[in-house]
Amino acid sequence: MEVVFAVRASSRRLVLRDPIPSPLKRPANGMGRIKPSLPPPHPPAAFLQLPADIVLYLCQEHLPPASAVALSLICKALFNLVFPRARLGLDMNALERQDLQLVLEKDLGHAWWYCHYCSLLHPISTQGPTSGTRDSYSWMVGWDSSHPYHNRRWLEGSSFSVDYQSVRLAMNRHFRGPLKGLPLESFNVEASSTTLTPWQRKWLPWQERWSARVVQDELFLSATRTLSGAGWTDDSLRAAFDHEWRQICGHVRTSGPAFYSMNTLLRPSPTVFTPYHDLIESCRRCLTDFAITVEQRLEDVKEGCVEEQPTAFWLISITSYQRLGSGRSPMDIQWEAFGNAMTASANRMQRDMSAYPPGAVKAMWESHEPEH
Ligand SMILES: [Zn+2]
Ligand SMILES: [Zn+2]
Repeated sequence: MEVVFAVRASSRRLVLRDPIPSPLKRPANGMGRIKPSLPPPHPPAAFLQLPADIVLYLCQEHLPPASAVALSLICKALFNLVFPRARLGLDMNALERQDLQLVLEKDLGHAWWYCHYCSLLHPISTQGPTSGTRDSYSWMVGWDSSHPYHNRRWLEGSSFSVDYQSVRLAMNRHFRGPLKGLPLESFNVEASSTTLTPWQRKWLPWQERWSARVVQDELFLSATRTLSGAGWTDDSLRAAFDHEWRQICGHVRTSGPAFYSMNTLLRPSPTVFTPYHDLIESCRRCLTDFAITVEQRLEDVKEGCVEEQPTAFWLISITSYQRLGSGRSPMDIQWEAFGNAMTASANRMQRDMSAYPPGAVKAMWESHEPEH
């Protein structure tokens, strides 16, 4: 039931009244009036029972502008009391307006989120990262150069993409409670791989599993990418691997130009791949670690084929760990390193390797096992 408050001129107190007539009407046969079974109304907050002058004094003298405006939005009467000349009352500077919207986001965080780039509250329009097949050009959809911080980040060679809105919403859930933002589970995405230039029209069968954790009030992402070479010859697998790269972060690829690629996975001589087990490496620019395992396995022999020898195949697994920051601003350097790696400022950044040596991000991820 909607309620409004009105200021009664005589007593100068805020008075609660119910402006909506009962929806129940007398039956046509003239029988007695039906008693509504509505829950008892909540008593008005103690604050609103104070004399209007006191309310006005508290709002004007003791509350920061953003809190005063947010409080006055409880009802028209309170708003008119605190801001009798609305234009004057809401003549806030940019910082005060931002504070107000951040206060409102706290209350309305189930449906709205605050964007520092636009300085606006936007309606929530995401359910988290997505995974979908892409054709040659669809990865460009969503790129809006006038709103660069709204863009989704797509790591080349993956169908997984994540936008800043999802990062902020996941952290809003962490900071503000279960009804706000998005759950971390919305980052549990299984993605297949794709690329603009498949090797001889056949994509390498990479599979990805993504998940997220909050560690020390920051969002972390992890993805396990697995490539099974079963059914591929060594030469065709190696040729496709060199031709189709997969981005691990905005700066590191599985193959391709040497500056960007993982040295450990470059073509060795004379073997096709060099075996590794859980080799830890890291990006030199952003807070991304990755663990590489390269091994040979034997294919299962089909039942009944007693004479058939098991065939060996290569299995490559790369698990990445990425620290995305607290999601409080799209200009956060950690989000920028991941989400906008193409910007000039992101290109200039260097990871502090003495403070964050290879494995530091992985260790933080593993320090915080989720509760089951
Ligand atoms: Zn925006
Ligand atoms: Zn990087």
